[in-house]
Amino acid sequence: MSEHRFTHTLFQQHLDEQKLPGSRCRNCGELYLPPRPLCPNCHSGDMSAEMLGGQGRLIAFTAIHIAPTVMLEAGYSVKNPYFAGIVQLAEGPAISAQIIGVDATQPQNIKIGSQVQVAFIERSGSEHRALAFEVIR
Ligand SMILES: [Zn+2]
Repeated sequence: MSEHRFTHTLFQQHLDEQKLPGSRCRNCGELYLPPRPLCPNCHSGDMSAEMLGGQGRLIAFTAIHIAPTVMLEAGYSVKNPYFAGIVQLAEGPAISAQIIGVDATQPQNIKIGSQVQVAFIERSGSEHRALAFEVIR
């Protein structure tokens, strides 16, 4: 798969298969999520795919009350907010995604440093799975 270009489409295909792919630079060793075709660190194009385990910790979060269109269509609203957060994966890279498993109307129930696990969620109106992380404790 290393000869593939690391496109958004390819990333989505992996999410649909419930896989979380990163790309590692063979030149300097940096790991990226989502995968990148070029290394921003050393500008090498010699990237290899590396599947991530999906375990991580929550490093930032915010409750979203004014939802973008895709989330409105998924049923979120001012009265039904959701959490968006930044998760640092055990392998190192950080990514923003929806945070599930906690009630976004009860923000006291979520904490920085919470352990999370990747979830590939289906939204109504979309044939693709979306990346999310579920708080496990
Ligand atoms: Zn590099």
